[in-house]
Amino acid sequence: MDDIAGICARFEGTFVGWQIAELQEIYQALEPESRDFTSKFSISCPSGCGTCCERFVPDITYSEARLVAAWLILNSRSRLVQAVEEWKSGDRGCPLYNPDTPYHCTVYPVRPLVCRLFAACATKGKAGMEFRRCRFNADATAPQEIEAPALEAAGAPVMQDYAYRVRSLEGAGGVTLLPEAVLAAMDELRFILAATLDEQGPDNSNPDDTPTPTPTPLAS
Ligand code: SF4
Ligand code: SF4
Repeated sequence: MDDIAGICARFEGTFVGWQIAELQEIYQALEPESRDFTSKFSISCPSGCGTCCERFVPDITYSEARLVAAWLILNSRSRLVQAVEEWKSGDRGCPLYNPDTPYHCTVYPVRPLVCRLFAACATKGKAGMEFRRCRFNADATAPQEIEAPALEAAGAPVMQDYAYRVRSLEGAGGVTLLPEAVLAAMDELRFILAATLDEQGPDNSNPDDTPTPTPTPLAS
């Protein structure tokens, strides 16, 4: 189940399903902007580089965590789940990084916003829009800087604008380190999946034959 639409369908009718569908819309809006921007300015990463993922654990929102968690659960990626569970505060690097996979990111179709935009977008600084190359990149694969007028003319995606859109799905919620957020989301989604399976499944019987409690009348 690589496509986000399939994940939305599985959680249809729940808050999580709604949130993931909204997140998908944001990612879909970003995709052509990002493609046009990086191709116009010939921005890519040196072949084989994954230094950012090796050294960095992103902070993500709960909607982003729910999408990653749903993808891991619905695709039965138990080894990745274990990597997230074994991650310890202070560990360097993202537990979902694997240099032997095509994009080095084992959750590439559902990767969070910062992973989609890092070093491939404009940011808003004091002097207006700016682009600065990742310090691990090189002249052959990205310009050092791009001036604000060129960024504006190109309709470059802006990190802060997309971050506000993603954060707006959270209400008052903040951001949390990816492994912690994904672990919490996995617990929540397993509960929802168990509940919805119970509603939809052919066998709705009580698995351990626990008697249904009978209300006791209150003494008058
Ligand atoms: S989720 Fe993927 S792209 Fe993002 S830091 Fe982890 S490995 Fe890198
Ligand atoms: S060049 Fe920078 S952004 Fe690109 S993969 Fe390497 S460290 Fe990450």
